[in-house]
Amino acid sequence: MPRASAVLIASDIYRRSRYGGKHPLSIQRVAPAVDLARALGWVPDGAYIESPQASVAELCRFHDRDYVEAVMRAEASQSVTAAEQQRYNIGCAGNPVFPEVFRRPATACGGTLKAAELLAEPGPDAPVLAYNPAGGTHHGRPGRASGFCYFNDPVLGILRLLDLGVRRVLYLDVDAHHGDGVEAAFVGESRVATISIHEAGRWPYTGAAADRGGGQSYNFPVPPGFNDSEFEFLLETAVGPIARSFRPEIVVMQGGCDGLAEDPLSRLELSNRALIGAAEFAASLAPKLLLLGGGGYNPWAVARCWAAMWGKLTGNELPDRIGEAGRLVLARLEWPRLRQAPPAHWLETLCDAPRPGPIRPEIRALVAGLAARGLAA
Ligand SMILES: [Zn+2]
Repeated sequence: MPRASAVLIASDIYRRSRYGGKHPLSIQRVAPAVDLARALGWVPDGAYIESPQASVAELCRFHDRDYVEAVMRAEASQSVTAAEQQRYNIGCAGNPVFPEVFRRPATACGGTLKAAELLAEPGPDAPVLAYNPAGGTHHGRPGRASGFCYFNDPVLGILRLLDLGVRRVLYLDVDAHHGDGVEAAFVGESRVATISIHEAGRWPYTGAAADRGGGQSYNFPVPPGFNDSEFEFLLETAVGPIARSFRPEIVVMQGGCDGLAEDPLSRLELSNRALIGAAEFAASLAPKLLLLGGGGYNPWAVARCWAAMWGKLTGNELPDRIGEAGRLVLARLEWPRLRQAPPAHWLETLCDAPRPGPIRPEIRALVAGLAARGLAA
């Protein structure tokens, strides 16, 4: 049987696991995105792969063993000591101890490792697209959790690609937050270039335009109100030239969607059309694309955006209205933060109305800065 040219990797663990309480990740995200893609008929036989769980040895390719063991202990005991909390940044508000605090992030990493292995296979039967929407935990550090991220699956995935002989990997991060953990991991690694487009002045407060990491990092901190036109402008005049200069064999895209206008954690004003377009653009930059999830804290916005990204990248026409099966997936979602019924277009449409706007001088200045680095559109 021929292999699927695109694979969608997920797990039922995301269906039952919650970060708990009022945490922004107490919502459902991966399961409804996958269910919506299925409801739209976009997950053919052979395209879905159940995510393995990364082993301790695999996690230790990037993470410190004592930290990995501390997260395992936290899951087993459902508690951390004050010293562990201090040292590893777990058991606190952003990175709580919850029932699957080890297995869930280890599964997200296992999915990204699986994606990397499939994409790195030589020959015409290897997939050209692998999507792990549970991945994209870009803040994780070798020895500590950060920003809801316990382990760093993008780093592990890129390391696996390099270990398998891939010579140039371009990491493109469109999450509203700076991809700090990934940038830091590859300082001094000539086979990896990183690009992060994120909201200026937002946690973790890194990723200034002048921050070049080890020389192959490109940061685009954008102002609140960032619109579809500005995003497209950055892709074409900054990301495109960087990619053409670097000539990646594989693009790894962190497709966090907390930059959507309806997301509660950023002040960016993108429509999901912009992010779907960004995924298509990323796919055009190299022969293969490893697509990950990331932030995204409005459950309807996340499910629609991530399902539509997958649909578009696998060659499907995006319908205006999603039909009854899809509507049922979205009607089941809950969001304690929302005090009234969700607006009809969150339940019945797949794509948002476009959110175009002027391209502001701050955005043009970010691109002008590239010329000093020998890159121009
Ligand atoms: Zn984010």
